Amino acid sequence: MRKSLFAKLFIGYFCIIVALSFSILFLSFRAFREQYINTLSAHLHNLCVAIEPKIMRYVEQGKLQELNAYIKELGAAINTRLTVVEPEGRVLADSEEDPAAMNNHKNRPEIISALTAGMGRSLRFSSTVGEEMLYVALPLRKEDRLFGTLRTSLFLKEINAFLGNLKTTIINAALIAIVLSVTLTFFITRRFSRPLSNLISTSKKIAEGDFDAKIQLDQEGELLDLARSFNEMTERIRDLFAEQRSQKEELLGIIASIQEPLLVLDRDGKIILTNDSFKKIVNAQTAEGKFYWEVLRKTQVIDLIQRAVEAQGNFTEEIELQENVYLVSVGFLDMRKEVVLILHDVTEIKKLEKVKKDFVVNVSHELRTPLTAIKGFVETLEEDASDHEQARYLAIIRKHTDRLINIVQDLISLSELEEASFKLQTETVSVPDIIEEIVKIFEQRLKKKNIAVERICDKGLPLVQGDVFRLEQMFINLVDNAIKYTEKGKISIRVSHDDGYIVTKIQDTGIGISPGELSRIFERFYVVDKSRSKELGGTGLGLAIVKHIISLHAGKIDVKSTPGEGTCFTVFLPCPATA
Ligand code: ADP
Repeated sequence: MRKSLFAKLFIGYFCIIVALSFSILFLSFRAFREQYINTLSAHLHNLCVAIEPKIMRYVEQGKLQELNAYIKELGAAINTRLTVVEPEGRVLADSEEDPAAMNNHKNRPEIISALTAGMGRSLRFSSTVGEEMLYVALPLRKEDRLFGTLRTSLFLKEINAFLGNLKTTIINAALIAIVLSVTLTFFITRRFSRPLSNLISTSKKIAEGDFDAKIQLDQEGELLDLARSFNEMTERIRDLFAEQRSQKEELLGIIASIQEPLLVLDRDGKIILTNDSFKKIVNAQTAEGKFYWEVLRKTQVIDLIQRAVEAQGNFTEEIELQENVYLVSVGFLDMRKEVVLILHDVTEIKKLEKVKKDFVVNVSHELRTPLTAIKGFVETLEEDASDHEQARYLAIIRKHTDRLINIVQDLISLSELEEASFKLQTETVSVPDIIEEIVKIFEQRLKKKNIAVERICDKGLPLVQGDVFRLEQMFINLVDNAIKYTEKGKISIRVSHDDGYIVTKIQDTGIGISPGELSRIFERFYVVDKSRSKELGGTGLGLAIVKHIISLHAGKIDVKSTPGEGTCFTVFLPCPATA
């Protein structure tokens, strides 16, 4: 079990108080004992000094019996042992024992010190009386003559008894001090630990999500300031959480209401957010927390996500999922390294597109036969027309019929090219050969318009893989336009090889195209000058077909033009090595 803060603080303080008290007790007792023994030693020294002259007289005169009697009497009177020892160590007199029965005292530490240092002190066990004693000895000297040593001593048991009493008194005082300080510590610790425990338990509650928890303190001072700041901080956090929660709910509400299926992945590919529309298309009750490949089992989608993550960019692709066609947009969020996937259902649009295309193709096919018949009959009538007026009307009918036939033909061509199942009939093709053939077709018209053709083909050009029929169709449209929109000058066709491409430049000296129109000329039915285009039998579909054929060959087209000076179309077709 974990100890409470109070218990920890209190036990700590308790140990410190007890350790301090006992150290002080031990040290002070030692100091007292030392001081007491020093005082007693000083007393014994003074006693020696006081009785020394009398003792000296007895020793000088050799009155050993009187000396012994005097010592015994004095020793009993002052409760102190007195001993006189001659320089060789023989005891001359002793207040406690018979000197004749006593050992030689020459080697007693206090006697040695007295003779060598002028004063000896020792605290030791006495083998004569069989007790611990404090000894003080002084030499008996007169005019440099040594007569012996005077020793005074006290029984240590008396000293110990006094010190014992002192010890009990000190211990009692220390115990009282300990009890008082521990009691005081108890209250002080409780006063400080209570608000801290309160703070800890409240912060735990807050960590568990209870933002209404508050610290209540009934004390003044810094702890109250701390509690107030803590409560204010908790309120701020609660407000922030509430704000964040409402923002999240709002966001989730918006996401749920989005009709398009939506998916957000974290950096590991785990789903962190989806909406109901998404769950519906993947037939999953829950998707959050799973990896996207566990939920989306379509390889195309997985590839698209991987591409977006690798390139850290945005990708869009049309993908069929559950019999519906979706425009799948994958976006990479650089900041959070997350991926957002949105699926737009384009099934209806695709169906409509198909219906429209089918309609155009069907109508075009239906119109082709009657239009050809009309043209045939108009030509017959033209041959038989006698009247000039009649012939003029018939020519107008033929011109419009031609234009209709061209439109129908171009529409059929475009829809064929756009067909998903359309495949190019590829073979190895020489672009200069195709150009050669095409120029032949336009020879009459060029002569009629008095426009020269210049062909420059580099030697040893590589062949390209292409559909001859479609490539011819593409170049015919470009050369036809060049002739149509050029009144004088020349048309130059240059074929070269550059950076893995066969590059064909078709340059004319015609009316040119303004920069604003350039970007739009490849759109279907886009014509710069409607009346001129109609007049020249244009359909507005020629360049759309050109662009389509080139992209089917994995090539590209570029156009540069200066109004009044001419236009240059550049076609790039990949050579086999780089195709
Ligand atoms: P169209 O059948 O009308 O020629 P295209 O799709 O072939 O339709 O061309 C679209 C438009 O681009 C034309 O109407 C014309 O205005 C312009 N255009 C195409 N080629 C040339 C060119 N060589 N010189 C000037 N304008 C051109």
